[in-house]
Amino acid sequence: MTPFGQYGESSASTRSAFHSSRTRPPKRLQELCGAILPLDLSDPELSLLARKTAEFLDKQPTVVRAGVLTAATILEAASLAFYRRPIAKLETSKRERLLSRLEHNRYSAQALSSLKALVLLVYGTDHFSAETFQRATSSPPARPDPVLNLTSAIAWPSITTCDIVVVGSGAGGAMAARSLARAGMDVIVVEEGSSYSVDDFREDLPIDRFTKLYRDGGTTMAIGRPPIVLPIGRAVGGTTVINSGTCFKTPSTVVHHWHDSLGLALAEPDRFNDYLDEVFTTLQVAPVREEVMGRNGELCLVGAEKLGWSAGPIVRNAPGCEGCCQCAIGCPTNAKFGVHLNALPQACQAGARIVSEARVTRILMDDNRAIGIEAMRRDGSRLVIKAPTVLVAAGATETPLLLRRSGIGSHPFLGSNLAIHPAVSVAGRFEEPVFSWRGVLQSAEIDEFHESHGILIEATATPPGMGSIMLPGYGRHLLWELNHAEQLASLGAMVADESTGKVLGKNHALIRYDLGRHEGLMLLQSIKFMGEALFAAGALEVLTGIPSKPIVHDLKELQQAVENADYKDLHIAAFHPSGTAAAGGSAAFYPLNSRGELRGVSGVWVADASILPSSPRVNPQVSIMALSLAVADSIIAKAEGAKS
Ligand SMILES: Cc1cc2nc3c(=O)[nH]c(=O)nc-3n(C[C@H](O)[C@H](O)[C@H](O)COP(=O)(O)OP(=O)(O)OC[C@H]3O[C@@H](n4cnc5c(N)ncnc54)[C@H](O)[C@@H]3O)c2cc1C
Ligand code: SF4
Repeated sequence: MTPFGQYGESSASTRSAFHSSRTRPPKRLQELCGAILPLDLSDPELSLLARKTAEFLDKQPTVVRAGVLTAATILEAASLAFYRRPIAKLETSKRERLLSRLEHNRYSAQALSSLKALVLLVYGTDHFSAETFQRATSSPPARPDPVLNLTSAIAWPSITTCDIVVVGSGAGGAMAARSLARAGMDVIVVEEGSSYSVDDFREDLPIDRFTKLYRDGGTTMAIGRPPIVLPIGRAVGGTTVINSGTCFKTPSTVVHHWHDSLGLALAEPDRFNDYLDEVFTTLQVAPVREEVMGRNGELCLVGAEKLGWSAGPIVRNAPGCEGCCQCAIGCPTNAKFGVHLNALPQACQAGARIVSEARVTRILMDDNRAIGIEAMRRDGSRLVIKAPTVLVAAGATETPLLLRRSGIGSHPFLGSNLAIHPAVSVAGRFEEPVFSWRGVLQSAEIDEFHESHGILIEATATPPGMGSIMLPGYGRHLLWELNHAEQLASLGAMVADESTGKVLGKNHALIRYDLGRHEGLMLLQSIKFMGEALFAAGALEVLTGIPSKPIVHDLKELQQAVENADYKDLHIAAFHPSGTAAAGGSAAFYPLNSRGELRGVSGVWVADASILPSSPRVNPQVSIMALSLAVADSIIAKAEGAKS
């Protein structure tokens, strides 16, 4: 297949994007792309790759563009230092030698890997776009788009009034809005992101779906050693629009810890179990069906069975899923049952209204009482919604910022206590084709080490082209890996972490996360477990993700690679930020009281991932939704108490 076939040659839009960056794109983007992937430098394919990379970069925040410029500078400087010639003038073998040298230096390796991730994402999504489209449209939608009482902010009046404003329409906000509307309150949900229909996910280019659905185009990073990629959704439905659909009830040990040790009244175990059941019923949760699991999940289960490890199909909220592996860029069949398809339409049926494309800039306060919110439309104009109660559900990285912007974020632990579930991926190369992307994106789990080590292994395949960062090397080697990706099966593992990160800032989140030694060692341990499972399933070799030993051929090599690795060099991603406006019994430690209301003020509540006082140890959406139902009931109880 010809890469960039979907884009056509040099359209006016790609040309203008290439030339109109807010900061100029790296002068030698074409040479840089050619260094990562050795397409011939004069090849029109390469010039299109450079243009599309520039176009993608154009939509990214300054910090990402600055990172790419740094990588470019390092590459150029190294080329001049080692070969006394610019990188564009080096023949392929020399460019590869140069990149291999830089790859073994910790600091240049980190900078180069961001450039590599970018080029692979742009190249890979386009390279596979014909198949992505074909799989997206091969079956009709499982259900129609929902009926929402939704207005874009541009058409929403400048001043309105209601009983309660919910900020954010994701996992937490949607569930709370439904309970509040059903209790007879006049609810307005304000969401920064846009609303998407199933047709958008069937018709738009994969790279455009990716860019639109994620905050900062999916490039959010936690700064630390190592830096950690932390993508976050932004849409009506929040991160549930792009999540993998895996559903776990909060383990009872965690529920008891929250309630008994941390004083979280919201997690009273009997009542909390009812909330968990209510979430499972709303989301129509069921195990992945055998016929859509795909070879990736099957191989995970084969490996686990051979080793006698506890494992099984993942339980998901995706009734009618056909296994097209595109959950992370919006389900093109409306099968994945994010909250935009259940709790939000149910809230609207009960009278709630949704305003999309409005970023809440601050909560309006009169002394210590909430009196509403102010939000900004995309054209920069303002709207005000007056209400005596504001429920913040903007997600763990945005909620602390909003509270600070509103002058009510002075609690010393607001923004602290960030847990993220750091995660690593490993791939196994099999003799026969696996086509990991032909099946459910997250399909099978190995929970053998969950209680003992806090490690949860999940067979996770990415939409074609998106998970290529685990492929080792640069140049011809990398191109070979990309062209043989169908032989790879991939597993991911996440580790239950102590909450050691911080979200700083007011307008744009600055996320700091220092991976603890224990978590780092558990990540290395999980690479070993995943490698063992893949070898047991018949893998010929395992791609470890460990820079010093990216490929191993047997268990002995795997053991040595893990023993010799430094966890600070790993490529880590995380998908589950939580805990930054935690609720709990102690006024000294928790910004929210044990029922979810912000201490020190009246009428401001929080119901999203921020309120979790510690890591839930499992994929968090169900825990967030259950806590959010509990917060909504606390608000209703307080309102009823005030009336009587
Ligand atoms: C790729 C990926 C895969 C995942 N897979 C799973 C999975 O399989 N299972 C699982 O349990 N969890 C998964 N998660 C995590 C899970 O989806 C999130 O933890 C959960 O959705 C968080 O809920 P929330 O309500 O805190 O925030 P969100 O769902 O992120 O909702 C917050 C909303 O608030 C909006 N917002 C923010 N600031 C403002 C503002 N100032 N004004 C107006 N609106 C604002 C945002 O745009 C967003 O829509 C995944 C996450 C990612 C990124
Ligand atoms: S794999 Fe994901 S995107 Fe594809 S149909 Fe199933 S839920 Fe939807």
